[in-house]
Amino acid sequence: MEKLLNELSVPGRIGYSLPPNDVEKNKLSTLIPEKYLSSERPALPEVSEPEIARHFINMSITNHHIDKGFYPLGSCTMKYNPKLNEATSRLPGFSGIHPHQHESTIQSALQLMYELEKSLCDFTGMDSFTLQPAAGSQGELTGIMIMRRYHTENGNPRKKVLIPDSAHGTNPASVVISGYESIPVKSNDRGLVDVDDLTSKLDEEVAGMMITNPNTLGLFEEEISTISKKIHDVGALLYLDGANFNALISLMKPAGMGFDITHLNLHKTFSTPHGGGGPGAGPVGVISKLSKYLPYPRVQKVDESYTLTSESTDSIGRLHGFFGNFGILVRAYTYIRLLGYDGFRAASKNAIINANYLKKLVTERYDIPFGQNCMHEFVVSAESQKKRGAKAGDIVKRLLDFGVHAPTVYFPLIVKEALMIEPTESESKSSLEDFSSILEKIDDEINENPSLLTDAPFNTPIRRLDEAKAVRELRLTWDKVGN
Ligand SMILES: *Cc1c(COP(=O)(O)O)cnc(C)c1O
Repeated sequence: MEKLLNELSVPGRIGYSLPPNDVEKNKLSTLIPEKYLSSERPALPEVSEPEIARHFINMSITNHHIDKGFYPLGSCTMKYNPKLNEATSRLPGFSGIHPHQHESTIQSALQLMYELEKSLCDFTGMDSFTLQPAAGSQGELTGIMIMRRYHTENGNPRKKVLIPDSAHGTNPASVVISGYESIPVKSNDRGLVDVDDLTSKLDEEVAGMMITNPNTLGLFEEEISTISKKIHDVGALLYLDGANFNALISLMKPAGMGFDITHLNLHKTFSTPHGGGGPGAGPVGVISKLSKYLPYPRVQKVDESYTLTSESTDSIGRLHGFFGNFGILVRAYTYIRLLGYDGFRAASKNAIINANYLKKLVTERYDIPFGQNCMHEFVVSAESQKKRGAKAGDIVKRLLDFGVHAPTVYFPLIVKEALMIEPTESESKSSLEDFSSILEKIDDEINENPSLLTDAPFNTPIRRLDEAKAVRELRLTWDKVGN
């Protein structure tokens, strides 16, 4: 196991070489009042340059990542991220600027945001976007706040937001944080929104409905036009959780399906490395009647230059410092320029074809309860494997031994022993076949020796962890590790 940096530390060892100091020395207390000075030196690690380089390289290869192996983490769109995106986001003109600089000196950055907003409008049919939210979930919050502002201005903020029972957990969370009650809508036996159940819950107290399409089972909501009409008939708004937009880009526009507000997860669909909690970007697009509520400042083009709008009373306010996670906007912009509209159409189609091909291979051994044609992902139920001795959680631990990242487990909640698999467009036919044969081998192992599964993983840097212990016995100081 790679040691912690503090454990590698040797007093006096340094990792830099600087020319001798030719500035006159000052006592620190002449610059900073004594009471703010610590009497102890900070416990910073002291290591050489090669040590620090090896330390981080060793950690990076211990980790699983998309450049190392298959990463079928459902709902997360772990596609390959072209290295060009990294190169552009590191250009000094983007990485070295400060948001407090005068507008005239950051014209390219403003232009990039302006053009990115236009592209996102093209892809979605929305009228305008804010690029501020730092994640899909913060985008949801933004969207529901806009909903509330719209209804309040029409005289009544209303009380409830409808959410399908297959939804991602962030959906009800965003609704509740915005002061609404979250009302679940049942799925029917095909895994789609049950329109009768929806109808029975509709009244003038419904502010809106939040739908993921394709939904978290990877299924397209075929009755979206009916749903949209019913929602709009009671004066409510329709929100798209656009986390699954990878299945739709250049094939279908959310505005055309009747959505009034949508977020996009740039880190998923538009290729930024993600995982481990960030960083992300969750721009929110709205139709024209909602544009004035978007967070400020927005970038606008006046004659040939780009400026920022000032505070406005219609706006819901700021959601994030400055412009959100700007580096991610640069990556998304680059990716969009790289692929173009036709390139995205090919990518979406391949994402759908890959998921359907893999689903076909996997159904040989595993059950897929909502097994009709899927879009970009599908959800396996390992109930039959559980009866033979290995739960969904055991199967995915064993997958790690074969160099594959675990799929999403136990979500969506309407599938028992769920394994949610999203191959993305960037995998080849043979890598899908390899993955399917690993799943077959694991299924054989369950028949032959289920305890192998419950003890897995064997080949990873760390064996199976006690998932509850880390929460109950927090260890936050480095000097306790290894005791
Ligand atoms: C990822 C995801 C979210 C939340 O997005 P973050 O960017 O992780 O905050 C919401 N809904 C669905 C369906 C998702 O897959």
